[in-house]
Amino acid sequence: MSAHFPRLPMISSDDSDVFHEECGVFGISGSDDAAAHTALGLHALQHRGQEASGIAVFDGKDFHVHRALGHVGDNFSSPEVIDKLRGHIAIGHNRYATSGATTLRNVQPFIAELADNTIALAHNGNLTNAITLKDALVRRGAIFQSSSDTEVIMHLVAHSPHKDLVQKLADALNQVEGAYSLVAICNDTLIGVRDPSGVRPLVLGRLDEAYILASESCALDIIGAEFIRDVEPGEMVAIRNGTLHSDRPFAPRPRRFCVFEYIYFARPDSFVEGRSVYQVRKAIGAELSQESPADADIVIPIPDSGTPAAIGYAEKAGLPFELGIIRNHYVGRTFIEPTEQIRHLGVRLKHNANRAYIAGKRVILVDDSIVRGTTSMKIVQMMRDAGAREVHMRIASPPTTHSCFYGVDTPERSKLMAAQHDVDEMCRLIGADSLAFISIEGLYRAVGDARRTPENPQYCDACFTGNYPIPLTDHDEGLISA
Ligand code: AMP
Repeated sequence: MSAHFPRLPMISSDDSDVFHEECGVFGISGSDDAAAHTALGLHALQHRGQEASGIAVFDGKDFHVHRALGHVGDNFSSPEVIDKLRGHIAIGHNRYATSGATTLRNVQPFIAELADNTIALAHNGNLTNAITLKDALVRRGAIFQSSSDTEVIMHLVAHSPHKDLVQKLADALNQVEGAYSLVAICNDTLIGVRDPSGVRPLVLGRLDEAYILASESCALDIIGAEFIRDVEPGEMVAIRNGTLHSDRPFAPRPRRFCVFEYIYFARPDSFVEGRSVYQVRKAIGAELSQESPADADIVIPIPDSGTPAAIGYAEKAGLPFELGIIRNHYVGRTFIEPTEQIRHLGVRLKHNANRAYIAGKRVILVDDSIVRGTTSMKIVQMMRDAGAREVHMRIASPPTTHSCFYGVDTPERSKLMAAQHDVDEMCRLIGADSLAFISIEGLYRAVGDARRTPENPQYCDACFTGNYPIPLTDHDEGLISA
C-alpha cells in the first residue's frame, strides 16, 4: 500500500510531523581544527536554533558525526567529543524545532551513504513542495527516517541519475521549491548553496588556508575569520583542496531576502546581504519615531529584540533611552519554547520591570514585532504595575498578518493577533494607551540600499503583505489566506 501525505492545511507549532524549522548552519574546509571551529561557529549561531545541534566531519576517508539535543555549549564543550570528530572538513547545524517532541532522528547534519559516495547535509530554511516530493518518493519505495524536509533532498540526491555527487545535489535542488541555505560535504568537497531567491542568508569567510560558510558573519568573528562576501542567491560554491569554484545551476529568480532576518532573526552584530543588522534596526527605530511620535518621558526597549530599534527611536525623538526592563539571560527566546504553557510562563521568567525608571513616567515601549500578542500584553501590564503613568507601544515591523512558509516560525493565521484584529483593537487588547507599527514604506526606507528601492525592494515581506514570492505547492490556497 502506498502512503499519501496530506497537503499542509496550515502551519502548526504543535505538530511534530510538519516540515518546519529555522536554523543556523556552518561549514569549514581546510582546517586542522575543523570540528572545534564548527562548534564555536554554532555557538555564535545559537540564537538561530536552540533545540539541538550536530557536527559532521570528513577525515579524507571516513565521516564522523555527533548530534545531540540541547545547546551547543552542552553538546560540544567536552574535549572527548571534539577529539572524536577528527578531520579537515566539517559542517554543523543548530536546529530550531517547532514541534512538541524533538527527537534525535530530526537532528542534522544528515549523512547518507550512496552507491559510491557519502554526503552530509545541513539545511536552513523551509521547502514548500517537500510533502509533494516525499509523497512521490515514497510511492517509488523510499523509506523516510525523519519528518525533516532535509531528508527529501537526501532522497532526491540518491535518486539522481548523474554520476558526480555535486551534480546530483544540484539536480536534487532543481526539484525543490522554497527557501534554503545549506552546507554539505560531498566526499572531499565542501558545498554551500543559497536558493535562487536568496531568502535565507549564507556568508563566505576565510581563516588562513580554510574557507568558511556560515548563516551569519557573527560566526566568522568568533573564530577570527575574515568576511569575504555573501553567497549569492542561486549560487553554489564548491571548495576542494583550497580552491573555490562558483556555479549557478538554477534558473534565476528575483531576489527575495527575508526582511524579518533584519527585523528580528539575525544577530545585531552580523552583516547580512551587505548591511549591518544593528544599523538597519536603528534606522527602523528612527523611521518609527518620525512616523509615530508620542508625548512621553522615556524610551524603553523590550530586550533584547527591541533594543537597537529603541536606541534609534530615542535618538531621533531626542528622548532619554533607559533599560526599564531587565532581561534574565539564562532564559532562551520565549517563542522558541515549544508549548503554549511554557511560552506563557517564559515571558514572566524572562523580563522584569526596572521600577526606579518607570514609576510616574510616560513610557514608550519598543519591540520588534507582535505575533500572538502574549509578550506585549504582559509587558504593558508589567509597566502599569511598576507605576507607569502612560504606556505607548511602538513596533519596529508592520503588523504580522500572514504566516511564514519559508523557514521562520510563525503560528497559523488564526493565532496572529494582527490577522484577527485592527490596530485599535490590538491596542485595547494589549492594554496600551497607544499602539503604532512602522509602515511598510517606512520599513523599506530603513532597509533600503543601492540595490534595493521602495519600487523594487527585492525582499520577501510575505508575513506583512501576504505576497508570497515562491509557490506554496504543499499548502491549501484557501487556508493560507483564511
Ligand atoms: P508574541 O508574544 O507572540 O506577540 O511574540 C512576539 C515576541 O516574540 C517579540 O518580542 C519578538 O521578539 C519575538 N518573536 C517574533 N517572531 C519570532 C520568531 N519567529 N521566533 C522567535 N521569536 C519571535
